[in-house]
Amino acid sequence: MELPDEAATEAFGAALAPLVQAAADSGLVIWLSGDLGAGKTTTTRGLLRALGHTGSVKSPTYSLLEPYVVSRIALYHFDFYRFNHPDEFLEAGLDEYFSGAGICLVEWADKALPYVPQPDIDIQLRVAGSGRVASVQACSERGRACLSHSAL
Ligand code: ADP
Ligand code: MG
Repeated sequence: MELPDEAATEAFGAALAPLVQAAADSGLVIWLSGDLGAGKTTTTRGLLRALGHTGSVKSPTYSLLEPYVVSRIALYHFDFYRFNHPDEFLEAGLDEYFSGAGICLVEWADKALPYVPQPDIDIQLRVAGSGRVASVQACSERGRACLSHSAL
């Protein structure tokens, strides 16, 4: 999917809202893959706004985790870019967030391997010219079921 500008990336994130709502009772792990500046946080912002979040959406680059509760959905936005070692995932006790009904959105999941759980949905973003390109892949049965609830 081609995303010519920032607004298109936010709209792409917004299109993920029905998918996330379909997983509200079961939990879901979404990896946001792609280089620095590829649009991972912008996608998350579009999703949160579409779910009804009106506050700011900051990158969790320094905090590791920004938690939200919106439309009675718990959403956890992670960014492991600053990890020096994957063990930091366990040391920070982050595994517990992945076992409940929350929606986990993970930037730089590869820096927390093998401890970070595998995704139900993998979203790949890349820079293309002055815009971005996104692709969405279901990686589990749950991911496939949720994806069928979206237009993506
Ligand atoms: P990441 O979280 O992947 O590092 P961000 O979401 O923070 O990236 O976005 C980095 C920059 O790219 C921001 O300035 C954002 O406005 C811009 N951006 C996002 N999507 C697009 C797009 N489709 N075209 C051009 N610029 C974009
Ligand atoms: Mg980011």
